[in-house]
Amino acid sequence: MKSYLSSKTEQIKPSAIRRFFDMAANMKDVVSLGVGEPDFVTPWPIRDAAISSIERGYTFYTETAGLIELRREIANYMQSCFNVSYSPESEIIVTTGGSQALDITMRAILNPGDEVMIMEPSYVAYAPLVSLAGGVPKPIETSIETEFKPKPEQIQQAITPNTKAILLCSPNNPTGSFLNKEELKAIAEIIIEQDLIVITDEIYAELTYDEPFCSIASLQGMRERTILISGFSKGFAMTGWRLGFVCAPQGFRQAMLKIQQYTMLCAPSITQYGAVEALKSRDRYQYIEEMRTSYCQRRDYMVKSFNEMGLDCHLPGGAFYVFPSIYKTGMTSEHFAEKLLLEERVAVVPGSVFGAGGEGNIRCSYAASMEILKEAVSRINRFLESL
Ligand code: PLP
Repeated sequence: MKSYLSSKTEQIKPSAIRRFFDMAANMKDVVSLGVGEPDFVTPWPIRDAAISSIERGYTFYTETAGLIELRREIANYMQSCFNVSYSPESEIIVTTGGSQALDITMRAILNPGDEVMIMEPSYVAYAPLVSLAGGVPKPIETSIETEFKPKPEQIQQAITPNTKAILLCSPNNPTGSFLNKEELKAIAEIIIEQDLIVITDEIYAELTYDEPFCSIASLQGMRERTILISGFSKGFAMTGWRLGFVCAPQGFRQAMLKIQQYTMLCAPSITQYGAVEALKSRDRYQYIEEMRTSYCQRRDYMVKSFNEMGLDCHLPGGAFYVFPSIYKTGMTSEHFAEKLLLEERVAVVPGSVFGAGGEGNIRCSYAASMEILKEAVSRINRFLESL
């Protein structure tokens, strides 16, 4: 039968993570380390502000770029927490999650055939979003030897005349690896020398445990060639609210705004009122600090447990994932994850779904209570002993 679908869409594969979630959904007594979202409910002051906006009847479209009040709060937040300065009037757009910010970024900058370097293992949406926008994803494979951080020479060697941008994600999903200031400086030098742009996904910026977060946009010469993507899903425990933002120099931002205008009109208004309060109350209530402290304890527990079980696991600097190696078991990550789910009812994600360099590892999210994590560790231990 003739296909009515676009060839671009037909070439995109559905996310392989879904297969495991679907399998797990039909099973009882599953302990899940599979989900990439906080286990905390959104802090109350944020929920309260959103409820109040409904009560006051603030139910209309906002400006396409988002409420100016929210953009001002975002500008203050980015300046005071991450030392990057953006104009609320001309350099920020509020989006429907970091996901939509990524989408409008790709669509705004890519011409057919433009290459975007992606450090893999990576977040599963990057390569499809590049392809859907007509670009070509170019994976750079990282490995456990460098704790899944790209080597500057790898980036240098992968540049071609078609390279337009480098996509960085630190702290990283799925590896949790974190690029510090010195490591970012080495990459920034190449970006400037080769006249490229960087898309930096800083959605996990609030969740670093050992060193302070550094935005590549704050490094000398980088602001004008950086598109910075962030949001409220992870740090503020607001995944269901679907709210993110993009900060970029005016030229980029204007192009993205055109796409936003015709595709989204604006991000949800009620959610935006909640986010204003999220940023206003961030320091007053210390809720991020409390969540971070809790994640850090869980990270340490998971890393120690995996290493004790004989599965090598580096200490990830941020996000809420550990990425232990299952190489020694001789199984593929998909086989390991499937067998673990069927035999011990623990859901993890096979590393292979995250692209090059992911095979031989599994992603375990520790955004779950200590009780759940302890149960998962005890089941994984039993599973390994049975092999
Ligand atoms: N970027 C990364 C690295 C992620 O892990 C996620 C979600 O898992 C997103 C972006 C999208 O986040 P959201 O659209 O909820 O803001």
